[in-house]
Amino acid sequence: MDFSIKKHDRESITSLVNQQKAFFYEGNTRPLDFRLEQLTQLSNMIRDNETRILDALKADLNKTDAEAYVSEVGILLEEITFTMKKLEKWMKPKKAKTARTHIGSKGYVIPEPYGVTLIIAPWNYPFHLQISPLIGAIAAGNTAILKPSELTPATSELLAELIQHYFPASFIALVEGGVEETQELLKQPFDYLFFTGSVQVGKIVMEAAAKQLIPLTLELGGKSPCIIDGSADIPLAAKRVAFGKLTNAGQTCVAPDYLFVHHSVKEQFINEYKKVVQTFYGEHPIEEERYGKIVNVRHFDRLAAYLQDGEIIFGGSTNRAKCKIEPTLVIPSGMETPLMQEEIFGPILPILEYSDLEEVIKFIQARPKPLALYVFSKVESVQKVSQRGCLLVVVV
Ligand code: NAD
Repeated sequence: MDFSIKKHDRESITSLVNQQKAFFYEGNTRPLDFRLEQLTQLSNMIRDNETRILDALKADLNKTDAEAYVSEVGILLEEITFTMKKLEKWMKPKKAKTARTHIGSKGYVIPEPYGVTLIIAPWNYPFHLQISPLIGAIAAGNTAILKPSELTPATSELLAELIQHYFPASFIALVEGGVEETQELLKQPFDYLFFTGSVQVGKIVMEAAAKQLIPLTLELGGKSPCIIDGSADIPLAAKRVAFGKLTNAGQTCVAPDYLFVHHSVKEQFINEYKKVVQTFYGEHPIEEERYGKIVNVRHFDRLAAYLQDGEIIFGGSTNRAKCKIEPTLVIPSGMETPLMQEEIFGPILPILEYSDLEEVIKFIQARPKPLALYVFSKVESVQKVSQRGCLLVVVV
């Protein structure tokens, strides 16, 4: 039966899950050799089709070959090589002390596969974020059903074709589609769910998982702040912020969402940022072929509306037909504006000026935990204080 086709109905999805359950319980996915062979097969799939993958990413997001290779292809090949090198060690049972109640017994922690997994991917790195969790799923001895984003159709279609060609559906299969298909998948008795996407949809996925007590991983988004204090190397900070904010036109989960810049270096930072943008993308970035596009008109309109939420001090041009928005710096008109409330996920960067770091920390702590927090400071006490209440801190 052809499982990698569009528009799966409930019956075909149920049958697919049942086939994978049978394949898993026959023990096929457990041996080290099987896992290594399948990882090699995945690596071959990527290597054999590199040009087609880069073309699909160009069509969906206008990624240049260099950017797409670094962020979506090369990174996966490296991950596969690393996983294959470590796998035998990872699979070995580890001795563990037993409790007094079990005196005389021996204890081990034995890595066990979950079974049939579902991997739901977003559109911003549509190849990388679909395949990276699959590497882990295969390495850990699971089967997998993949669900790429409907917003990047060229990549979704190519993935469907490749997965069907390189793997049997009883082991790895792919279901294309949007909300309807994903919700159908979420009713199935999966053994593990891996979701990458927005907070909003993350809540839907977690609710569906809770109904069946399915363990899951949520890789979500959010507003990642960036603090630049008076001691920072400003040209370097401007370069790194621009790189993080403008790669894939800001459509990156860990892109700096907004800046807190110490008042003593604010003007210098703005000037340096302008210079870096020119060096990266020339005088007119939206005319520049190398500059990424916004994924679709709906997201373009969402971003264009943010331009009303403050004073534009740099950039601000848009081209709706090409779905392009210039790298833009904005002074927000208020903290209650959508610009300062929602994850931006585009090349618009709000700048807030500060004098007292404690006030900045309180502001960040009062909001949902960010995915990343960036600090540019040479002062150790500033680096340390910035760590309070955040998931990940990158100190530069
Ligand atoms: P999204 O949440 O809109 O969609 C993700 C997936 O969920 C897609 O496959 C989509 O088809 C499906 N989906 C959408 N609506 C659904 C619904 N109502 N019910 C069930 N399934 C549904 O996310 P997106 O717009 O594709 O991606 C952008 C988001 O992902 C951003 O918030 C970004 O920060 C986040 N992200 C996080 C990471 C990370 O590693 N933490 C990486 C990349 C992106």
